[in-house]
Amino acid sequence: MRKLHHVTGPILYWNLLGMICISLMEGIGIYMLVPMLSLIGIFEMGSTGLNIPWLGDVLNRFSENSQLLLVLFTFVLIVSGQAWMQRLQTIRNTRIQQQFVRTLRMETYGAIIMAQWSFFLQKRKSDFNHILTTELARVSQGTSIMLQMAASLIFTGIQIGLAFWLSAKLTALVLVCGLVLFIVLRKFVKRAKQIGDQTSEFSQSYYNGITEHFNGIKDIKSNMLERSHMNWFERMCRQIERNVIQFSQLNSGTQLIHRMSAAIIIAAFIYLSLRVMTVPPASLLLIILIFSRLWPRFTAIQSNLEYISSMLPAFRVVRELQAQTAKSREISEEIASAGDVGTDGIQPMELKESITCEDVCYRYEGSDTYSLRNVQASIPARGMTAIVGKSGAGKSTLIDLIMGLVRPETGRILIDGVPLSEERLLSWRSSIGYVSQDPFLFHTSIRENLRLVDPNASEEQMWQALQFSSSAAFVRKLPQGLDTIIGDRGIRLSGGERQRLVLARAMLRNPSVLVLDEATSALDSENEQYIHEALERLKGHVTIIVIAHRLSTIRTADRVIVLDEGRVIQEGGYQQLSTDPVGTFSKLLNMQAGVVGQ
Ligand code: ADP
Repeated sequence: MRKLHHVTGPILYWNLLGMICISLMEGIGIYMLVPMLSLIGIFEMGSTGLNIPWLGDVLNRFSENSQLLLVLFTFVLIVSGQAWMQRLQTIRNTRIQQQFVRTLRMETYGAIIMAQWSFFLQKRKSDFNHILTTELARVSQGTSIMLQMAASLIFTGIQIGLAFWLSAKLTALVLVCGLVLFIVLRKFVKRAKQIGDQTSEFSQSYYNGITEHFNGIKDIKSNMLERSHMNWFERMCRQIERNVIQFSQLNSGTQLIHRMSAAIIIAAFIYLSLRVMTVPPASLLLIILIFSRLWPRFTAIQSNLEYISSMLPAFRVVRELQAQTAKSREISEEIASAGDVGTDGIQPMELKESITCEDVCYRYEGSDTYSLRNVQASIPARGMTAIVGKSGAGKSTLIDLIMGLVRPETGRILIDGVPLSEERLLSWRSSIGYVSQDPFLFHTSIRENLRLVDPNASEEQMWQALQFSSSAAFVRKLPQGLDTIIGDRGIRLSGGERQRLVLARAMLRNPSVLVLDEATSALDSENEQYIHEALERLKGHVTIIVIAHRLSTIRTADRVIVLDEGRVIQEGGYQQLSTDPVGTFSKLLNMQAGVVGQ
């Protein structure tokens, strides 16, 4: 409720007031019709009819037919007015609810995307999807019920006031009964929360499971694992079903208790009033009246409380994620508000001399062993540096450190002799073009994919970047050229073509440093040759860092850093290292030559 107030402000209270007005007006229309008709003498209602002399006088001035028309017109006016107000109210309610959910959505998404890389290493991506879709939908539903309940509480308060005015003693009696029942049924509200916790848990497992299955669909199909996945899915569906039924049982159970206790209490009242206290029948009617008005409100409040309790875990999950991401913010709030975040304002740096790793150690969170140990290395500007080593040697980790995605546990990364600090982080990263092993392109046109890094890129610049990455020729051959849609439901490109497009995208940014993370390992020799040519064109202008599994890609590298178990074991020029007969690099070269030779 506090969060809701914070997001929406005073409009929340106007809305509550509107809801109360509508509740008061509710029923007036239809209940008024019969007494008004009796007022103009259509039929006789005796003492129960409306007794408003001035209204009767006003109506009597008109002819009989006009009277009827006037009454019916008033009826239409009241009902339509109420319906109109109801519509406005519904829209306003939706606005408040959606504004709240939008704020939560944006806060959550923003917090996730601004978190540092190490945060993503520990989390499952499907958890984010789950929270941003299912859990936020539950929060939205919960908000709607909460708004209704807030209005209902106020309305009940007014009714209690009116009932007190009619009879303080009897109302107090009803209230005490209601309170006792509420205390007795408190544990059901708690239980509703537990069921809600389970709902969150199950829907998370469901979401993670199906995401995993569809990501690995090829393995599932080729290894005939469909049956076991179907079994898992069925188990999951049954659990979800049971969970929903459990809530329904709980909610309908408390409703049943409420209704039955209403009958028991009223029967006891009537018995005591007539036989023990001999209360006059008029008072008895009053009891029934007050009871029949207040009790359903209590029942509704109990039910709403259970619903809200079952939705609270979803809200908690969202808040927890926000808290975690706040702790893992990449750029602190002060620096962000100083105007560095948001890609527009960032000035890319230019690497002039070198990148230096100074005694860098790094350990992944939760891991005992160091992935990098006392790494000393230097990457000269405008040259091509290759990082090589066996799988798991620490190549990607070193690149992540250089890009500032993770921070060294000890030691420093120096850019042109200046430590890479938080203030310079985004500026540094915006000067880097990164091409990964698994090139990522959005399911849209090539043009849109390229414009992602530079929305103002001209046609000429795009073609230049494509030329640089040796992809201009194949793009020209595509049916719609730059406007060809790529991805799942568009043109399927080969691995090499995708790789080159990602390289073109990276080049469009005009990067000072280009990082290729095993970008050529999955390519055939022809495509590898294309990339190789592209890199040759860039040498001398851009600092190129290549992680290469295939050593043929790096034969023109100016510098090679050989890693093994997190340590730099060799560093030097390609020629120098390849001719050193006892060094690891020449062994690696020989090994690959042997593989190729076979
Ligand atoms: P390479 O790129 O040379 O194959 P990596 O830099 O990926 O090697 O990995 C270096 C070491 O760090 C490996 O021992 C690997 O098991 C470990 N490692 C990599 N990523 C993680 C991670 N997210 N959490 C824990 N350990 C990791």
